[in-house]
Amino acid sequence: MSWKPEYPGMPLTIPAFPGTVSLHYMDNSSSPRRVAVLGSSGSIGQSSLEVIAKSKGQLVPLLLSVHRQTDILAQQLRQLSPEHLPRWIAVTDETADRSPLEEFAKNIEIAVGHEALCELVRHRDIDIVLSAIVGSAGLTSTLAALESGKTVALANKESLVMGGKLLTDLAQKHGGRLIPVDSEHSAIMQALCSWRMEFADATVRRSVDDLGIAKIILTASGGPFRTKSQPELENVSVAEALAHPTWKMGKKITIDSATLMNKALEIIETRWFFDVPAEKIDVVIHPQSLIHSMVEFIDGSVIAQMSPPDMRLPIQLALYYPHRVLGIASKIDWTKMQSLELYPPDFDRFPALLLGLEVAASGGTAGAVINAANESAVSAFLAGRLPFLDIVKVCRLVLEHHHFESAPTLEQLLAIDRWARGEVERFVDRR
Ligand code: MG
Repeated sequence: MSWKPEYPGMPLTIPAFPGTVSLHYMDNSSSPRRVAVLGSSGSIGQSSLEVIAKSKGQLVPLLLSVHRQTDILAQQLRQLSPEHLPRWIAVTDETADRSPLEEFAKNIEIAVGHEALCELVRHRDIDIVLSAIVGSAGLTSTLAALESGKTVALANKESLVMGGKLLTDLAQKHGGRLIPVDSEHSAIMQALCSWRMEFADATVRRSVDDLGIAKIILTASGGPFRTKSQPELENVSVAEALAHPTWKMGKKITIDSATLMNKALEIIETRWFFDVPAEKIDVVIHPQSLIHSMVEFIDGSVIAQMSPPDMRLPIQLALYYPHRVLGIASKIDWTKMQSLELYPPDFDRFPALLLGLEVAASGGTAGAVINAANESAVSAFLAGRLPFLDIVKVCRLVLEHHHFESAPTLEQLLAIDRWARGEVERFVDRR
């Protein structure tokens, strides 16, 4: 076997961002922030446009991109007032039908293809890039943004899972920043900021030890199958897996929430966002999805961030970062009784969690393999070609058979991504 988990020595630096900057209120005199929304037709993209629309001109959409869903993009453009139309739109799939966008061709420049999108992302007029493309397809545009020193509001966790070291190194080298949009990581950022307010200078890197972090505790709703027994899990249908109890999200992430692979990917994301070793990351099941994650400090104090499950809050915080503004997301109703349950996860029924911890510990190519294998396996499950429990099973199989590289280049990551997808396809075909 060429791959085995290990705990390499951690460099102990906080990458280009958190724990080092305090959050504060934004005053009205601040100049508008020009935003690129990559993946605007998806669930995060649509919520981002709501946040932008409510910003009273403080956030301006300069670039919107979709892969194929040009009809949704056209609809979104029709809802914007003429003075807030973006300067550019991009369609990354060259074969997509662009006719719904024809009515805007006079006023907006239309770019086609991934490379054209990467070119636009680098434009100096863009202040912040919201990376919300689903899956590994988001990697190259995220890299382009970081290479040009941009602030990236990262909803595309897959790019950090695939190339965590590459992304954080690039951000540091070019002065770019990675701000989390994922609700758990937004919670961790807020817990860290509230603890060390005096670290107002983002250029000062603090180690995990300096920050006094004992543990980062990710919360997981447990998904739709939280209470199902092992035998019951064998025969769950696609429709059952798509019915998430608390969050309304896209298909891929909803299946990831049912297998808890989403939490596994978030463990890996945490390792890179906050530069914490895997052994300091824990998961607890919290079905109400009110606590979005917690940080435990060395003195035993735990700081948690709470809000209803509504992605508009972390999106708003990331787009205005490091400022807090009046919220448009729903708020907790304190006149009603809330119950909060927290309990440890069942690693036997949800083995994806162990995979996440192992991959976070080993780094290198392991993240790209698990991400690609999972994307392929989820597609096969959605197409009715793979049973639910085999999603995680095939991920482990492919991970254990891959040729591990500890410091892969982008080319190596993309090659191993293709290899892992091919392996899953072969597994599915053999069944
Ligand atoms: Mg999340």
